[in-house]
This record gives sequence, C-alpha cells and structure tokens, in this order.
Amino acid sequence: MEAVTTKAPHLRKFSSASDYTRNFIIRDEVDPYLRSGHFIDEALINEQLARAAAAHNPDDPVRLREILAKSKKIETLLPEEVAVLMHITDPQLLAEMAETALAIKKAVYDNRVVMFAPLYLSNLCVNNCEYCGFKSSNTGQRRRMLSMSEVEEEIKILAGKIGHKRLIAVYGEHPTTSTEYIAETIRTTYKMDIKAPNGAPVGIRRINVNAAPLPIDDLRVLKEVGIGTFQVFQETYHRPTYEKLHPHGTVKGDYNWRTTAFHRAMEAGVDDVGMGVLFGLYDWKFEMMASIYHARELEDKFKVGPHTISFPRLEPASGTDLPSKSPYLIDDDTFLRIVMITRLSVPYTGMIVTCRESPESRNTCIKYGITQMDAGSNIALGGYSEYARKSNQDEDRQQFMLSDTRSLEEMIAYLADQGIITSFCTAGYRCGRTGGCIMDALKTGKEGKFCKINAVLTFREWLDDFASNETKQICEPVLQKELEGIRANLPKFYPTVKEHYDRICAGERDLFF
Ligand code: SAM
Ligand code: SF4
Repeated sequence: MEAVTTKAPHLRKFSSASDYTRNFIIRDEVDPYLRSGHFIDEALINEQLARAAAAHNPDDPVRLREILAKSKKIETLLPEEVAVLMHITDPQLLAEMAETALAIKKAVYDNRVVMFAPLYLSNLCVNNCEYCGFKSSNTGQRRRMLSMSEVEEEIKILAGKIGHKRLIAVYGEHPTTSTEYIAETIRTTYKMDIKAPNGAPVGIRRINVNAAPLPIDDLRVLKEVGIGTFQVFQETYHRPTYEKLHPHGTVKGDYNWRTTAFHRAMEAGVDDVGMGVLFGLYDWKFEMMASIYHARELEDKFKVGPHTISFPRLEPASGTDLPSKSPYLIDDDTFLRIVMITRLSVPYTGMIVTCRESPESRNTCIKYGITQMDAGSNIALGGYSEYARKSNQDEDRQQFMLSDTRSLEEMIAYLADQGIITSFCTAGYRCGRTGGCIMDALKTGKEGKFCKINAVLTFREWLDDFASNETKQICEPVLQKELEGIRANLPKFYPTVKEHYDRICAGERDLFF
C-alpha cells in the first residue's frame, strides 16, 4: 500500500482506532448549534402527525390545493403541511399530487437526469451499525482500502471506458481512511489524464463524497481539493432507534454529532450538502417530517437547504438480518409516495434514486421528480477494474446488493426513449455556482438555462465518445430537440452554444457555461 501524502499537517492524528473513537468528536463543534434545543423535536413531530391523522377530512381538496400552490412557487413546505400530504388517501387527489410533482420537476430541472457512479474506496470501519455489511463486528467482510494505483485503475474504467464524469465516493469511517485519505483519492482522480476509446480527453470532473461527519478543519481540506456535494445520511432521525442501531461508545453512536454534520460543512464553506434517511429503520412518516425540519434548519441558519436528498432503502447485507426483519420496511408504493412528497415539500432540491432500487421502481421514480441516478454501478471494492463492464456482485466485499444492474448505455437509451436527456454536467461547483447561489438560481429558474446548455454539450460528448451506433440513433433526436429548444427559447445564448457544440463535434472537450 502506498502511503497517503500528508498535505494537511494541521489535522489531528490518531494513534489507533480506539484513540479515534474516543477523541474524534469535537464537542465545541456540536453544542453551539444546539444551544436553543435540538431542531428535531420528537414530541412535536408526533403531535403534528397525530393531528393530521385525526383530521376531520384528511382528503380536503381545498387544503391540498393551497399546499400544492405553495410547492409550485418553489417554497419549502411547513412540517404540518407535509403531514397533510402524507395522510391523503383519495386516488384522485394523489394523482393531482403526482402531476404537480412532475410539473415542479420540469419547471426546475426540465427533462434532464444527471448521471453519476458510486465508487467504494474503503470498507474499514470503526462503527458497528446494525444494518450495514461493513460493521466492525462482521468478520465475514474482507477489509481493505484502495491504494492510489487501484483508484487510478477504477477511474480508467469509469471515465475511460464507461464514460462517467461524476462520482459519489464512499468511505467507511476509520482513522486510516479519514480526511487525508479522502483528499488524496480526490486529488489522484482529478489529476488523471484519460482518453476515451476514440482518443478524446475525458475524466472525472466532479467528486461528491459520502463519508462520516467531519470536523470543520477537515471539511476545509475537502473544500480545497474540490469536493462536490458532501453527503451524510442521517439513517434515522428518531433518537431512541438511532441509539439502538448505533451502539453507545462508537463515533456514529453520537446522534448530535451526526445531526450537526451539515452545520459544520456550511461553516467550512462546503455548502452543497446531501441529506438522506435509510428507509426501513423507523416509521417513514416520522422520518419525512424530521427531514423537513432538518432542511428548514439549514435554510434558517445558513440560507441554504440540501443540494440533494437521497432515498436509500434498507437492502440485504452480509452479517445482518435486520433488512428482512425490521418492522418498518416500506413497500414500493410507499417508496414512490415518499419520493413524490419530497418533490412537493422541498421543490428546489436535487433528488437521487440509486441502483439499490429495482428497474421498475426507478423507471417510475423518474415520473415523480427524480433528478439524479447512477447506472452500470459496481459497489464491490475494486469492482470496476476487476469486472470491467459486467455487473457481478460479491457480498463479502460490498455493503449490500444492487437491484438495477442496467449498464450506463442501457439506462441512457431507456431515458432517451422516454424523451429524457442524460446530463453529465459538472459545471456548477467549477463556476462557483454552489450552495445559496445555486439554490436561488434554481428557485428562479435561472440555473435551469445553464443546466440545459451544459446537458446538451456533455451529452454530445458522451454520445461521440462512448455510444454505439444503435444508442446514438435512439438518443440523437432528443439531443437535437434540446438544441432546437435553446435556439427558440434562449436566442441570446444560442450562437455561443452552437459554437461550443461545433467545437465538441470537432473533438474539443470540457466546454461549459
Ligand atoms: N460510513 C459512512 C457513514 O456511515 O456515514 C458513509 C458510508 S456508508 C457506507 C453509506 C450509507 O450506506 C450509509 O449512510 C447508509 O445509509 C447506507 N447503508 C448502510 N447499510 C445499508 C443497507 N443494508 N442497505 C442500504 N443502505 C445501507
Ligand atoms: Fe461503517 Fe458507515 Fe457502514 Fe456504519 S454505515 S458500519 S459507519 S460504513
């Protein structure tokens, strides 16, 4: 294993896993955010849910339409309004909600889906989360972290053979793979010189990170190396359940450290943050209410809500039977309802559904407002280079099993068939359009025009560099329609867009607005 270069000597060092577990959390970076009480108030959420459940007419169309009107204005809903949405049962009103969700998605994000790939870097972990294959007590898991040359091997396949431009890099929590390692994997990836099969220069241009909550200084280091979104899933907002599933004395066992992860990120200038609940651990209605409180807390304190919300659902994993026996598992209809209500509740946010879900469920989710997906994913450590484009899964070195095993090309062709353009745009953070800036732009529809243009340019690149002739035939009409849309609706921009487009056709890459 090559040593990780120390480029942040000011970061704290830990002599062992137990030293890390005892000393990693910095109380002064938790308590100040909770001085006026925790923003998740269990009793209040239960009371609001009980009130909505006991409403004289839960299917009140007048009240529903008032709420939907607010969603359409791209305003975050109040928790009590979300509670009303969760108790609607009338099929016609549910259809109205679904229609509004899709209309909002179109208004904010148009007909684009942004594509990314997960990359697992390490399954070393000091924690013992009941539901996870990486938990420290799971002796069946083959533990390792990727060396920098292994990272390069993975990226060569992801960027050079499949054509991905965006990653979500995933790490267990361990002193050996903490911030310096994360930063080194990001640097290594960004500086690679990769060519597509046709010789065009390609590469990973945005790396989002899914990792444990970090202190502010550590987050500043990640900001410096060019992190995209910092994703931390809360798993469950219900404190008693949280404490049961994350043993006391582990780092992750500290509910307040985790719930303030984004407060520290914002302080550090990492203002694209990604929320998520692991559905199946506790009552989904409670979790949705709590998620809204979390989003509103960030909006109130930092004027920036979540850049993305993800919807992981408990999946089978090695070393745990919780995924089959939890009393809170949700069925597909409930899952779709959660996706739809999130679109209505936090209308500006990006929404991610991953390959954990079945192809059928993912296909339907697109109609309920999803904006980002992965495809051709392999979550085994070192899995891309080992299996190249195949989708084999290996339960002894992956966290859980995947359900949608369609390749990136199949997914793109499917989306194009539905009239949806795949975007590989990574311009946002590279142009400083992050956090509050992008949030305002999304709310007012301004960001949409840059996204639309960058979607066209990056889709052109992908089709020229990676698509088969058959896929090109399916995708070309969607691309040309988008280009026409720019000519008709953004005439001031069109000449420059067309000039960029032509340069891409002639072999230039990475031109963006
Ligand atoms: N170790 C970091 C942490 O826990 O915050 C980040 C990486 S962890 C591998 C990423 C996410 O995987 C967790 O936040 C959790 O939501 C999800 N996860 C864990 N076990 C899962 C399972 N059995 N099914 C689905 N998702 C799971
Ligand atoms: Fe470790 Fe994260 Fe898995 Fe928990 S969820 S065991 S912290 S990798």
